Amino acid sequence: MRFNVFPFLDADPVVMPPGMTAAEGALELLPIAAVVAGLENGRLVLELPNGIYRRLGLGADPATSVLVQELGARIAEFLHGNAMREEFDWRMGGAVEQRQFAVTLARVTKRTEPRCLVSLVDRTGEMRTEVNLRREMSTDSLTGLPNRAGFGDRLEALMARGVTDYAVLVVDLERFGRINSCLGGMAGDELLMAVARRMKGALRASDVLGRIGGDEFGVLVAIDGNRAEADQVARRIRGVLSTPFRLSDFEIRVECAVGMAFGADAIGDAEDVIRHAQFAVRRSKETGQAEAYQTQAFDRARERFAMETALRRAIEARQLELYYQPICDLSSGRITAFETLARWTDEAGRVLSPTEFIPVAEESGLIVPLGRWAIDEALRTLAAWDVRAGGQCGVQLAVNLSPIQLQRDAIAPLVAAALAKHGLPGNRLKLELTESALVADPDGIAEVLHALKATGATIAMDDFGTGYSNLAYLQRLPIDILKIDRSFVTGMLADRDKIAIVRAILSLASALGMDTVAEGIETPELGQTLAALGCTYGQGFAYARPLCAEDAWALLVARSA
Ligand code: C2E
Ligand code: MG
Ligand code: MG
Repeated sequence: MRFNVFPFLDADPVVMPPGMTAAEGALELLPIAAVVAGLENGRLVLELPNGIYRRLGLGADPATSVLVQELGARIAEFLHGNAMREEFDWRMGGAVEQRQFAVTLARVTKRTEPRCLVSLVDRTGEMRTEVNLRREMSTDSLTGLPNRAGFGDRLEALMARGVTDYAVLVVDLERFGRINSCLGGMAGDELLMAVARRMKGALRASDVLGRIGGDEFGVLVAIDGNRAEADQVARRIRGVLSTPFRLSDFEIRVECAVGMAFGADAIGDAEDVIRHAQFAVRRSKETGQAEAYQTQAFDRARERFAMETALRRAIEARQLELYYQPICDLSSGRITAFETLARWTDEAGRVLSPTEFIPVAEESGLIVPLGRWAIDEALRTLAAWDVRAGGQCGVQLAVNLSPIQLQRDAIAPLVAAALAKHGLPGNRLKLELTESALVADPDGIAEVLHALKATGATIAMDDFGTGYSNLAYLQRLPIDILKIDRSFVTGMLADRDKIAIVRAILSLASALGMDTVAEGIETPELGQTLAALGCTYGQGFAYARPLCAEDAWALLVARSA
């Protein structure tokens, strides 16, 4: 056994007498190696079992070893203190080779002089595996390019340095799924590799190319403040991909959409920047050229999504309400019906207009549960009014139907069931639908309309005159009422063109034997004029705004008195 003594602070080295500690015994107990350290007259003393330096790769001469250079002060500090134990990682700073140790300092209590056991567990192997693992995890095994995580890391590193002169391009291969299923996965893989090679060839060595999704590549390019450079890169990529690929006797054309996001606009982290570029890909698919991400478009989509989530909750929690706007006989002023209009008071107490949330409901399919609720709610109110009136309350209720409901829901049986549930005959219900429902599927819709008609309900064509459908359908479909769109009615008195259109609609309706309702009557004179022109019914602020059920009932009672 050899003992060595090392300098601590400004004290001179001392030599420890042999046989002080059974350091070798301690060595056996510990996983890799242990050193006993002590303070003698304030100086750090290390007992080193034979061969430890060589075994740990610390070099042959302990006196100049990094162990002492780098850990001596820390061990001495520990010995001067009161802690019983301290653990830390130590990365030995070799220039060529880095080694990592888990170090534990454990105080030996029996001694009067402070002493501790320094145990060193060599973690270098594990560290290397970790590095390899991380590299593997950030690489796409097919193309050898950075994968989404790897690409994100590169971008993140750039962002962490405060660099903003860059663009991220997301290149999305179109119809790749079809190629894959037609030619098989192997050919798909081959194609991806070929695409990666060509793209790499179109980029500078300093650009980063990654495969960030199945058929999606990411490109990180420096742009020196000029955004047009990103466009050029996009054009180069589309250029190299435009030559067909030859794969096992097939000639395959690959088209791609390119979305771009710029470092100068970056908010959030690398993942956000990539998402923004991906978002721009959608627009690129529509326009056929590379598109840059626009903040507002993303925000709008996010808002829409937030609204969809909130609306779903509101429908489930029955937080929507129906408002009722009277439809009057223009000659007598009598209320003959109420149109039901959905209202939504959101969590913040804002009342949202259906023009805001119905499109979201239609896009997300939520219009189906919303529409079912509206039919049920309207008929429930009508049945309740009948009870209060001690018989038929004398009005119809009109419910708006979206084209999506006509396509996706079994609407006729649903209406029949709702009528039965509330004990009401079909003729108490009006259904309003817009021309767009007819345009989408003229033949399918005819069948649905006849089935609806069979429930006894009245069918009204809403917003008439704004759609672009062929008027011939009017003859073939069981439509009872035309509702003249507000845009022709409001301000009509001062506009000869509008008067001409309204006249034409009125004569068309009379020729076809249909009733007419003018929407958006804001002044009494307008109502009188429309009546004189032959319009049967009217609706608008001149009579009443949409009212909650209770106010609508009160209005009805007041008018009938
Ligand atoms: P719509 O069916 O054409 O309803 C008439 C709209 O005109 C209502 O807007 C009503 O408040 C408004 N209005 C009525 N009189 C006047 C007036 O004199 N002047 C002006 N400027 N506006 C007037 P609202 O309530 O915002 O509803 C908008 C649209 O949302 C409705 O147009 C309808 O297409 C749709 N909608 C409302 N509730 C439902 C529903 O439960 N289901 C479906 N599918 N759609 C609904
Ligand atoms: Mg309507
Ligand atoms: Mg309308």
